[in-house]
Amino acid sequence: MTLTLADAGAESPPEADDGTWLACIECGATFPPFEAVRYTCDDCGSLLEVRYADPPTLEEFAASDDRGVWRYADALPVESGVSIAEGDTPLYEVPTIEAETGVADLRVKHEGANPTGSFKDRGMTVGVKVAEKLGVGRLACASTGNTSAALACYGARADTQVLVLLPAGKVAAGKVAQASLHGARILEVDGNFDACLDVVSELADRGEAYLLNSLNPFRLEGQKTIGLEILEQFRDGTGDLPDRIVLPVGNAGNTAALYKAFRELVAAGSLAPEDVPALTGVQAEGAAPMVEAVETGADEVRRWEEVETRATAIRIGNPVNAPKALPGIRETGGTAVAVSDAEITDAQRALARDGVGVEPASAASVAGLRKLRESGEIAADEQVVCLTTGHLLKDPDAAAAAGAEPEPVPADTEGVLDHLGE
Ligand SMILES: *Cc1c(COP(=O)(O)O)cnc(C)c1O
Ligand SMILES: [Zn+2]
Repeated sequence: MTLTLADAGAESPPEADDGTWLACIECGATFPPFEAVRYTCDDCGSLLEVRYADPPTLEEFAASDDRGVWRYADALPVESGVSIAEGDTPLYEVPTIEAETGVADLRVKHEGANPTGSFKDRGMTVGVKVAEKLGVGRLACASTGNTSAALACYGARADTQVLVLLPAGKVAAGKVAQASLHGARILEVDGNFDACLDVVSELADRGEAYLLNSLNPFRLEGQKTIGLEILEQFRDGTGDLPDRIVLPVGNAGNTAALYKAFRELVAAGSLAPEDVPALTGVQAEGAAPMVEAVETGADEVRRWEEVETRATAIRIGNPVNAPKALPGIRETGGTAVAVSDAEITDAQRALARDGVGVEPASAASVAGLRKLRESGEIAADEQVVCLTTGHLLKDPDAAAAAGAEPEPVPADTEGVLDHLGE
């Protein structure tokens, strides 16, 4: 089976709990949502997604006075979360990049403005609440950094033990610092992210911990709210919906989550299929299995064993959400493109010039937009949103390397003036 824009609404099966259930995206098997811990289909092992009998319309959200993720509670599997005011991030104008790329409208949705500095908070406010509901004792994730920072923070807030598995030496300093201060146990694995995920998935299968990677279908529900916020904010700013959303891709959880948000709006009758923004994924050249699959038209994504990029948050060779994300890219008329580390750093500088400080992976979206404008795949009359996924301070080393060098001066005014006059 393949996911389509038309398939998010359905009759409640007997397994539903208050109009909510889990469904397998391959075989269609349905399961009760909160009766037992379950990440994948009992019957065929494929990915699960949360389904609702009655997905809400955009107009229903507009009636809410709440801000942030829980503004969209009617579209989520639980009524409230373990929450520290996540979401409601700014949709910035970026005049310099807009003029340079020559698109009709460009906005940047800056997810670095979330409480722990990345969009992962949107997933955790829902996922950690579901974990509480399931009564699990320990939370765990594999992470390129931001998932561990968010889980450590939300786990602390929920007073639950957190275990994070990180690829040794490949996680940016700010992220490890966050996981550490929020009190997670940090296990540095001698392997890459994909190896960390293999191990933690097995720990989860053995019942040692509750898995909060994006394989967890509840986490992606929280991340759906990025798409809902973009539509509301872009319409407030321009009177239109965006034609395209360009986003960095690692495990493709966001790509899957945005597609699901739009499928549910189509099912609710509040968005025409032709008005769904084209989902456009960007990967680093050294870690681009999704781009490969889009370019070759393959049904399945080939796992890359060796991956390398300065954008450590997307240094992933085996995107677990590919079966949910590929149909989204294809059915919305989107595409995927790979960019070099040099192009990523350049885009990071361009964003900084427009006042938006991001970590390298985030800048991949703008680097991808530039590339697709040059090739003509993105047209000049398009209205575009680039997603920037994490804050500049997440990776201070990359920011310092991309920016200006500090200049040593003596501790007196004349000496400083002399230096400035040089
Ligand atoms: C997690 C993360 C990504 C990758 O997102 P996916 O949903 O896994 O594709 C991109 N950028 C940053 C900063 C991240 O933390
Ligand atoms: Zn199945």
